[in-house]
Amino acid sequence: MMEAGSPTTPRILVVEDEAALALLLTYNLEAEGYAVSRAERGDEAEIMLAESVPDLVILDWMLPGVSGFEICRRLRVREATRDLPVIILTARGEESERVRGLSIGADDYVVKPFSVPELMARVRSLLRRARPERIAGRLQAGELMLDRMARRVRRGERDIHLGPTEFRLLEHLMEKPGRVFSRAQLLDSVWGDAAEIDERTVDVHVGRLRKAIVRGRERDPLRTVRGAGYAFDETFGKA
Ligand code: CA
Repeated sequence: MMEAGSPTTPRILVVEDEAALALLLTYNLEAEGYAVSRAERGDEAEIMLAESVPDLVILDWMLPGVSGFEICRRLRVREATRDLPVIILTARGEESERVRGLSIGADDYVVKPFSVPELMARVRSLLRRARPERIAGRLQAGELMLDRMARRVRRGERDIHLGPTEFRLLEHLMEKPGRVFSRAQLLDSVWGDAAEIDERTVDVHVGRLRKAIVRGRERDPLRTVRGAGYAFDETFGKA
């Protein structure tokens, strides 16, 4: 498990003036193993960014002090932050602002109110693209936690023992909560070069995975979508 502050812990700066949203983001990012710093004002964020460059910035568009737009523009001009991944948060109705954001070099944007798992997936994807080694060590959904480094899965206090295929399958599904993967896609990403493997193999392993993670009347985080495939339930642990 990664310790906060260790050299491999990705550092994320959250710039958001809505306290409740900033807290929610911090809580979820820390649960995934990131080190989070926070700024409520644009000018405060600029001072922090001048002192040290994080691995990713989540930047609200409308901020007191200096706007998200201006911060992003300045980051792109500065050599040290030219490639720093930036995710913009915009409110509904700011569509033209989004276009403006992407045009000045934001890497991604989400519209409020957004799904936290979806934002977490985007954070992971941007970090992976920017620095493949700096991906969060942990995937968390409610009481279910997958630790990539320790190759360990826990549900609450219970250790869950998975075979290597079930582990990769769960990891793959948890990385994109809500996204439905076809059996063919799963074979391709989890089994690799699997042209010769029957698609029913996927069902067998999903069955084993379910049996391992769901006991008694516990909620099943895996969704079977008839005729389509499988997904990790994005509402798991949220409702
Ligand atoms: Ca705001």
